[in-house]
Amino acid sequence: MTEALYFLDCYLTEFEATVKKVADGKFVVLDRTAFYPESGGQPGDTGKLVRESDGAEFEVLYAGRFNGEISHEITGENVSAGLKAGDKVKGFIDWDRRYRHMRMHTATHVIANVIEKEAGAQITGNQLSLDQSRVDFSLETFDRDKFAEYEKIANDLIARNNPINFYLVSRKEAEKSFQG
Ligand SMILES: [Zn+2]
Repeated sequence: MTEALYFLDCYLTEFEATVKKVADGKFVVLDRTAFYPESGGQPGDTGKLVRESDGAEFEVLYAGRFNGEISHEITGENVSAGLKAGDKVKGFIDWDRRYRHMRMHTATHVIANVIEKEAGAQITGNQLSLDQSRVDFSLETFDRDKFAEYEKIANDLIARNNPINFYLVSRKEAEKSFQG
């Protein structure tokens, strides 16, 4: 399995890795990666891979998880030059884009928490993007005025500039804590 460096350090913007395999000449699997693969409503990272031996650059269009593996889709004039298994590469994340997604992600957690507390509504889905994000809730009734209130509470919470903690839990632990 690919070592998920973005879990160990979500502020990691550059890393070194070895190509494990390349499918169809453009889907690259690495032994380790800091590219966040699309999941949980957060888009996959973009950026580039640079081969150490000759400096050839491969633009990463998309990172996603397929059959349990993290795949980096590459494009650009060098694709025909072919990355191959065993190549050593340096990866660079498009950090401006990723950091905006991280901020959006945290903001949706804040608003989801406020709405859960104030309205007892559960989040049912979400979709993040750079400029706007959507969060779905199961609500008994929809009251637009209430939403202005939730927005204010959420903005007040953010203005307090509290530290943000995140931690990894096993699926079992996560399911347990969400039941309680
Ligand atoms: Zn989340």
